[in-house]
Amino acid sequence: CHRVALMHEGRILKTGTPAEVREGLGLSRLEVRGPDLPAVETVLSGHQGIADVQRFGDRLDVMVRDVAAGERAVREAMAAAGRRLESVRAGAPTLENAFVSILQSLQGEQHVPPFPGARHEASSPGAIAIGARGLGKSFGAFHAVSDVNLEVRPGEVYGLLGANGAGKTTTIKMLCGLLEPSVGEVELAGERGTLRSEAVRQQVGYMSQRFSLYDDLTIDENLDFFAGVYQVEPARREERKRWVLDFAGLAGRGGQLTGSLPGGWKQRVAFGAAIMHEPRVLFLDEPTSGVDPIARRAFWAMINRLADAGTAVLVTTHYLEEAEQCNRLGFMVGGELVAEGTPSGVKAAQGGRVLEVRVDDSPRAMALLKSEMEHWRVSLFGDRIHVIVDGDSAETRRRLSARLEREGLHVRGITDEDYSLEDVFILIVARNGRAKGTRTAA
Ligand code: ATP
Repeated sequence: CHRVALMHEGRILKTGTPAEVREGLGLSRLEVRGPDLPAVETVLSGHQGIADVQRFGDRLDVMVRDVAAGERAVREAMAAAGRRLESVRAGAPTLENAFVSILQSLQGEQHVPPFPGARHEASSPGAIAIGARGLGKSFGAFHAVSDVNLEVRPGEVYGLLGANGAGKTTTIKMLCGLLEPSVGEVELAGERGTLRSEAVRQQVGYMSQRFSLYDDLTIDENLDFFAGVYQVEPARREERKRWVLDFAGLAGRGGQLTGSLPGGWKQRVAFGAAIMHEPRVLFLDEPTSGVDPIARRAFWAMINRLADAGTAVLVTTHYLEEAEQCNRLGFMVGGELVAEGTPSGVKAAQGGRVLEVRVDDSPRAMALLKSEMEHWRVSLFGDRIHVIVDGDSAETRRRLSARLEREGLHVRGITDEDYSLEDVFILIVARNGRAKGTRTAA
């Protein structure tokens, strides 16, 4: 956007260009990498001189007032805790950093209440919680999903990624027994074939993308309905319902009509309803769409807690920063699972390198680069351009800069960047989409 405005409780708090809002924060961002990030996060949270810490897959974003003092504080805190630090790199705060920081200063961090009566049973090692072999679905002559093979184990968070219409929802519906596959086999919570039995249903939670709650029931009535369907023990129902309301930030408002809630609040209740019975297998189809960044953090804290307790989670999302939090990712293109791996693994598998170009007239620079390179190599990220190149980066940087300057474009800088998952997503979709040809929605 040219300008953004941040609203809170009916008032506009800040307006400005994205850069002004980011800079107005008065904070810098340090990207911290190293092993054992959850422990590092604990060491750094609440440390003096550190305003906020957030985990993004293989890195922590640490917000500090002053880069040099902040970096010193990070290094000292890590040394004192005996933790190895791989790298610390300063970067500009993102708009998400600004949003989270401003809202946190107004309303505090959203804490996730402890789940009442949480189970602590180990799952059998080597078990498959969700399995698919040669799975496919056709609607008439249209192949929505073809030959999908995947396995998700207890305690694993698996992210299924893909463009709109790639076949993610259709796959999830087959995996959880809601849609009959045209071909292939599904294994769910130790069962094959009879996926609709009560025994299986009690072990599975599903938050669907579109329908999640009945608008014309109150929140309490919706929760009663889900507790009944999922067969939550009667003795536990009230405390679990209270937990969902607490988690959603709606304590004491169970009598409110669900349809009167803003979208993001409805998602919070729907998420709570899907996990009320502590499922061993959880399907979340775009659970955080329309949910603000602070609540998204709470969702992921809860997803991680469930996984730590042995639940297998299969989640879809279009927010790639949050996909970094998955243990494993699968990329779907045109109904097929075309790539799989850990977030770092899929980045490493891409080859080449990413150059980030900052130039005064990025739309014109984009048009020029796209006309001279394969399209998938060039993408726009806000006011920056990412170019995927092969070979020596110093030489390529010089050539790229000279080419843009020759067209009268002022280059403010070209730097080597690590692949983001967004780069990887665009690459995989573009490469495989070309190979398969574009398909239209059925
Ligand atoms: P999104 O990111 O938009 O949710 P998706 O990856 O979940 O997309 P699906 O909803 O699985 O994609 O859809 C895959 C394809 O199958 C789409 O082209 C869709 O139009 C088609 N499709 C899904 N359900 C049906 C149906 N019942 N009848 C005909 N076509 C369908």
